[in-house]
Amino acid sequence: METKNLKQAAMWGFGLLAMLILFNSVKGTVPLEKEIPYSEFKQRLDQGAITDVRVRPDLIQGEFRDDKGQAQSFRTLPLNDPNLVGELEQHKVASFQGEPDRSWMSGLLLNIGGILLFFVLWWFFVIRQVQVGGKQAMSFGRSKAKMVDEKKKKTVFADVAGCDESKEELSEVVEFLKHPEKFQKLGGKMPRGVLLFGPPGTGKTLLARAVAGEAGVPFFSASASEFVEMFVGVGASRVRDLFEQAKKAAPAVIFIDELDAVGRHRFAGIGGGHDEREQTLNQLLIELDGFEQNQGIILIAATNRPDVIDPALLRPGRFDRQIAVPIPDMKGREAILRVHSKTVKMAADADLAIVARRTPGFAGADLANVINEAALMAARKGKEGVELTDLEEAIERVMAGPQRRTSLMSEKEKKVVAYHESGHTLVAKMLPGADPVHKVSIVSRGHALGYTLQLPLDDKYLTSRVDILNRLAILLGGRAAEEVTFDEITTGASDDLSKATAYATRMVTEFGMSDRVGPLSLKKPDQEIFLGRDLNHGTGYSERTAQLIDEEVKRLVVDAQTKARDILSANRKALDELAKSLFDREVLNGEDIDAILLAARA
Ligand code: ADP
Ligand code: MG
Ligand code: ZN
Repeated sequence: METKNLKQAAMWGFGLLAMLILFNSVKGTVPLEKEIPYSEFKQRLDQGAITDVRVRPDLIQGEFRDDKGQAQSFRTLPLNDPNLVGELEQHKVASFQGEPDRSWMSGLLLNIGGILLFFVLWWFFVIRQVQVGGKQAMSFGRSKAKMVDEKKKKTVFADVAGCDESKEELSEVVEFLKHPEKFQKLGGKMPRGVLLFGPPGTGKTLLARAVAGEAGVPFFSASASEFVEMFVGVGASRVRDLFEQAKKAAPAVIFIDELDAVGRHRFAGIGGGHDEREQTLNQLLIELDGFEQNQGIILIAATNRPDVIDPALLRPGRFDRQIAVPIPDMKGREAILRVHSKTVKMAADADLAIVARRTPGFAGADLANVINEAALMAARKGKEGVELTDLEEAIERVMAGPQRRTSLMSEKEKKVVAYHESGHTLVAKMLPGADPVHKVSIVSRGHALGYTLQLPLDDKYLTSRVDILNRLAILLGGRAAEEVTFDEITTGASDDLSKATAYATRMVTEFGMSDRVGPLSLKKPDQEIFLGRDLNHGTGYSERTAQLIDEEVKRLVVDAQTKARDILSANRKALDELAKSLFDREVLNGEDIDAILLAARA
């Protein structure tokens, strides 16, 4: 604390000094002198009115007595006048002297003054920014973490809906915070850090709050982006402070939002790391490692970019528990809508199930927004309660609104995705020997709009040619389904195509599975090509072979496409049924799929 105050005093002193210097330098160069032409200077010299002269190569300054006999300072630019000294003597100027050229110095001072002024202004600007929300002057190193008063409207698990699995996993953390001694007795180890990851607006912050609320412990929350300030070291000291505060209040939950702001992979990107971020991250690691077991503090962090998090953070003993908070499926959406409509008066016709059906890809925040917009709209129209039409209008608004997320789908898009995924699924079901389909979903996950999950019956170490051909056909099944039903294809299949092409290429060049190319390994070298080196002997095979490889890869992919298309055309009814169910229910498991296909065949 002491050193901090000392530092602050030094900062203020520095600022004041800068102002003073600046003031002086300005005063020095803008004197109350009368600028007169050289001719007037000579004239007054002739009249004997000049009393004092200082001569510099670039400036003459002095004093003369004006017509009323008043002393007046003057300055003038000298001309090349070799007789000046003689004339000065002749007219009995009381004092005259030369002066070294100091013009550069005043210029320099002025410049320094300017720079200092800039710093001072900047300084004040920064201070003001930092002070927003904090009463303490210059609380740079202090964490701005807000402690939420646990008596004021607690958030509990019931306020979070549509992510039951995430809640389930977090309930263990709640148990620990409630009864740390129980875990101590059994010698069990609790996670120190829990990383919640998922798209924005899915309720990560809400969940963290609910953990504290359920356990009845204080909740300290800070955003990692606040740690990354302009000054190196500030972030680290804020982290330290945050943990200190929490330790005093233990048991407690510390929540760090946007962890990726500091937790990005170190050394990532060109031009090296970001010093400040790295220091902050290191401090975070130190704090995490320094946790005594069972100290009663749980660190929860959230990110929507788990892929960029520094692996050091994910090591055992740090954020060793990672919990996904996904975009909700239809049932989840309905539950979330229910939570948010509790405080709103709903008309009898406002069927939330219908709203849930119309809002694929909406996250919890979007749904909260829908309810809110609908309530506003109903109020504006002077209605008694929120009607279905208001909700429908609100959906449109949220979809078109500024916060439109890429995962939001229109009905038409949803239909295309349903057919696409049904295509993958149906081809997989129809091909003998293909892995069973475990689950198919059109609830977006990451980039993919939907996904088809196949799980092999047993672990495989060797993959046969037939397996790979099946896989190719399944990959192309999505696009084929779009073609068969809509006579048109979308960009949604690009990932499938690149995967299929990669498989086919490996079949030909690595696995020797093409008769025309033969059992050769024509793998391209994996290592990066360094500048100049290895550029010439790049591929190691002839132009003709390269062409042959291309032809074979193409043939394999096209064959797979044909196979997929044939299967889908022959089972058109099953495809339609599957797509319809998927559109309605968004997620189907293996049994659902079997039942639908059985019914379609009958
Ligand atoms: P994230 O932290 O994942 O970006 P938030 O927790 O900040 O999302 O969510 C913002 C708001 O959206 C919440 O305050 C809440 O009103 C609403 N919300 C989001 N997800 C849910 C959910 N699963 N259940 C209920 N409300 C939710
Ligand atoms: Mg959040
Ligand atoms: Zn696909």
